[in-house]
Amino acid sequence: MLHSPDTKFAIAAVREACALIRDVQRSLVTQALTKSDRSPVTVADFAAQAIIAQRFASERADDVLVGEEDAGDLRSEASRATLDNVTRFVGERVPGTTSDTVCTWIDRGRAEPTARFWTLDPVDGTKGFLRGEQYAVALALIEDGRVRVCPNLTADGRSDIGGRGCVVAAERGAGTWACALGSDDWHRLRVSARGVPAEARLLRSVESGHTNVDEMGELVQALGGTAEPVLMDSQAKYAVLAAGCGELLFRLLSAAKPDYRERIWDQAAGSIVVEEAGGKVTDLDGKTLDFSRGRTLATNRGVVASNGVLHEAALTALARVGA
Ligand code: AMP
Ligand code: MG
Repeated sequence: MLHSPDTKFAIAAVREACALIRDVQRSLVTQALTKSDRSPVTVADFAAQAIIAQRFASERADDVLVGEEDAGDLRSEASRATLDNVTRFVGERVPGTTSDTVCTWIDRGRAEPTARFWTLDPVDGTKGFLRGEQYAVALALIEDGRVRVCPNLTADGRSDIGGRGCVVAAERGAGTWACALGSDDWHRLRVSARGVPAEARLLRSVESGHTNVDEMGELVQALGGTAEPVLMDSQAKYAVLAAGCGELLFRLLSAAKPDYRERIWDQAAGSIVVEEAGGKVTDLDGKTLDFSRGRTLATNRGVVASNGVLHEAALTALARVGA
């Protein structure tokens, strides 16, 4: 298992955030689903970033945190009800929480990336969270160790909607490990050994607007594959690949939003989870992802993740379809 102080700290912080998100889901999501109301995910996002940032404030005061959220809008009069909810959920776990301390904790995440920093997506896959499907709390240390978590998967990587969820953690040079949330029974994850391109299982976003579905179809054809892609929200896809339950994942820019750039917190945790399980993650030219360009992967046009064996075939197929 992974024992470095960084990893232990990150796992504890993420476990606590997961428990809090479950509280929010239990008490707010069911009613909201019927009204297409996005407010529960807003509460969960802010509350999860607040509770993780609070741990940084008390245990890691000098560490830099680059988070997806900031408290700007939350301080406005129009957000009063949201802020009250966030304060209530965080306060159930951190006694003495006030709306001011919540905003201060969330704003720790406004820091700019430095040589060594943490990046956090408090609820990755917000649409999955609202549907009651896959989402992940993704926390990664950018330097050489990174950690992540993905609720709603069984520990062996199968999709387990409504299940306990699991923690997936990886550390450079020490592997990718998983255990069910609420347990401490860790086991090592390894990518699958499938080497025939036509047999590759492709993992894809549920949301077609987050990728390029047409190009993805052409890619599957170029690989000779016939299987329907497996649709999942969030970086849980990378955990499934790491667990050997899928072989390929392409993240291609949507034709409707060609200027979109991947944010570091959407890729950092997922990439080390795949690499340390024996897989490979690169850009469309086969180069390692560059996390030193600020809050986005500024020069990136897409991401390919594979079980390693199929990486060359994936890059060749990309070149063939002109992606
Ligand atoms: P997924 O769960 O795979 O659909 O990915 C969710 C992530 O996609 C969100 O966290 C967003 O940061 C990101 N996202 C939002 N809009 C786009 C877009 N147009 N293209 C690519 N990714 C996006
Ligand atoms: Mg995200």
